[in-house]
Amino acid sequence: MKTKTIERIISPQKYHWVGDGFRVNNFFPSNYGISMERMSPFILLDYASKHEFPPSETPKGVGVHPHRGFETVTIAYKGKVEHHDSTGSGGIIGEGDVQWMTAAGGILHKEYHEREWSKKGGVFQMVQLWVNLPAKYKMSEPKYQPVDNENMGKHNLENGAGLVEVIAGEYKGTKGGASTFSPVYLYNAKLEKDGEAVFDFPANYNTALLVIEGEVIIINKETAPTDNFVLMGNEGEEISIKANEKSIVLIMSGEPLNEPIAPYGPFVMNTQEELIQAFEDFNNGLFGELED
Ligand code: MN
Repeated sequence: MKTKTIERIISPQKYHWVGDGFRVNNFFPSNYGISMERMSPFILLDYASKHEFPPSETPKGVGVHPHRGFETVTIAYKGKVEHHDSTGSGGIIGEGDVQWMTAAGGILHKEYHEREWSKKGGVFQMVQLWVNLPAKYKMSEPKYQPVDNENMGKHNLENGAGLVEVIAGEYKGTKGGASTFSPVYLYNAKLEKDGEAVFDFPANYNTALLVIEGEVIIINKETAPTDNFVLMGNEGEEISIKANEKSIVLIMSGEPLNEPIAPYGPFVMNTQEELIQAFEDFNNGLFGELED
């Protein structure tokens, strides 16, 4: 097996606010020239690095908005996210939990800091990753997969090096908590100081890492500190990650869909016609109803 190459290491530079609750760095597709095609099937990564929120009686967040054509994966590292949607569903994504939402044919939802957490305030840290759907599934029924921490696959590494939480895909026989519509691997590698783990993904799979905590050395070459995004090249299969200190690394890898991408805001379709249809359907109330 060949070692993968490191294409880029990016430290976050440009934050923007999603509503008033999520101070995010968009690693792709906006700020750093990494297109949706380059990271397919992943089409957006918003990273809310640690940010202290003062107590608030009114939960901060983002109001009612639609999605169609893809999935949103919300990973809460610190703080809690509450959501409600047009199917009448809702819930809380607690610390260490993941919510895998398949927007598919269309959903309206709102995302906020959880009410009780908001009253106390504190440090908030979260990832939202958008995963594109193959054309044939874009208009399928919306659904949720709540992947609570206890439902994730947990693979204990040898020599007390740490733990790999398998959110999707599988790692050395340990299966993930979420099912996917195309081959996707998503892990949290939780490494002890000096702990090392090795991963392999096909060369053509688009692969990246995000350092959530600590500092790691990638393939014995480059150091990536907290909050840095590491884009791997499409060569070789193997990545070794060694922790200089106790670390958490989010690892994503997926088979590119190789289908046309027509994105506009909260809609990601294959053609302009489908985008226009999405706006029409939204304006005609076909995404359902939800109060702000
Ligand atoms: Mn949303």
